[in-house]
Amino acid sequence: MDMIRVCDKEFKPYLGAAEIAKAVDTMAARIEGDFRDKNPVFLVILNGAFMFAADLFKRMNFPCEISFVKLASYVGTTTSSQVHHLIGLKEDLRGRNVIIVEDIVDTGLTLARLREQILEQVPADLRIAALLFKPLAFRERYKLDYTGFEIPNDFIIGYGLDYNGYGRNLPDIYQIGSE
Ligand code: 5GP
Repeated sequence: MDMIRVCDKEFKPYLGAAEIAKAVDTMAARIEGDFRDKNPVFLVILNGAFMFAADLFKRMNFPCEISFVKLASYVGTTTSSQVHHLIGLKEDLRGRNVIIVEDIVDTGLTLARLREQILEQVPADLRIAALLFKPLAFRERYKLDYTGFEIPNDFIIGYGLDYNGYGRNLPDIYQIGSE
């Protein structure tokens, strides 16, 4: 793997496709062990998690569903803070075993808001599967149930993750190099 340029930035190789596939295998086996007889629904956060979710879901050899949602963020009218609102959720999650599938957890704020909105529907169980986790940036209390890699606070792209909309198609993951 070589350095690559995406838009105005250089990125260096960080996690190769084979290494990612191994982590997804391990995570899939754990999820299957926990949910084989529980008819879970995977709730995938678009856009970034699409590639990870497809690879994870292909490894599930038991009855399960998948649904894709988006978090629309907008600036609240009475406050300058960002509000995230869940859109695209058609399923009734009451009493269901729900597994949120996220590409990367940084501060954890995005998932904190999503968790609250899902918990309002009173699922039987709510778990989180994140391929990448930045523990040094994490500021929340909830736990991540399944993680692939713990990584430093550097910006990464590839395998679904973008920089300015580009780089999602890369099969490997790259870390920001020089400006
Ligand atoms: P959080 O709310 O946990 O701080 O941020 C989570 C979201 O920020 C992720 O879903 C992702 O969209 C974005 N994000 C966080 N770190 C990175 C990164 O290193 N690279 C990219 N491309 N997106 C990131």
